[in-house]
Amino acid sequence: MGESPIDKLRSRVGRLPNPPSERTRELRPRTDGARVTVSVCPYCAVGCSQLVYTRDDQIIDIEGNPDSPINAGTLCPKGAATRGLLHSPLRIQSVRYRAPYSDRWETRSLEWAMERIARLVKTTRDAGFEHRDADGRIVNRTVAIGHLGGATLDNEENYLIKKLFTGGLGIVPVENQARI
Ligand code: SF4
Repeated sequence: MGESPIDKLRSRVGRLPNPPSERTRELRPRTDGARVTVSVCPYCAVGCSQLVYTRDDQIIDIEGNPDSPINAGTLCPKGAATRGLLHSPLRIQSVRYRAPYSDRWETRSLEWAMERIARLVKTTRDAGFEHRDADGRIVNRTVAIGHLGGATLDNEENYLIKKLFTGGLGIVPVENQARI
């Protein structure tokens, strides 16, 4: 009796008659032998659990933790790219500044940037600060400055930002990209 139609089909799609090659059998996962540490995604309040794989004290991969009741092994694109936060060669490591009307970026020191930001915040706040609203009520606020936080801010950083910008400087529009 010849090969059945189903065996012919399996053969054509590489199933039964074609076992894995020796090379395929020798392949190992990229995390093979790595140390695994259970951690939590640093990005948002969902708190997905991650498995951080390290070898020779270097992070080689970060994946979703399948044992977590929160994310059951999944991660959103941000969480799945957590390793890039530390190791991406595309990350810019110095201050880049583009002057008004300029068509190019310049590299500046962190001290220069902090001084410039502080000066601009002070000037803008002083120019747009309201002590009282139109009905005479004390408000001590400014809407001349806004702040939009990004996904890599953690809860503690967001707490400090809110304390400084709203409580300290009176800035009203303080938002975070995770809420938008
Ligand atoms: S950023 Fe994504 S992976 Fe990270 S905790 Fe939030 S939902 Fe989970």
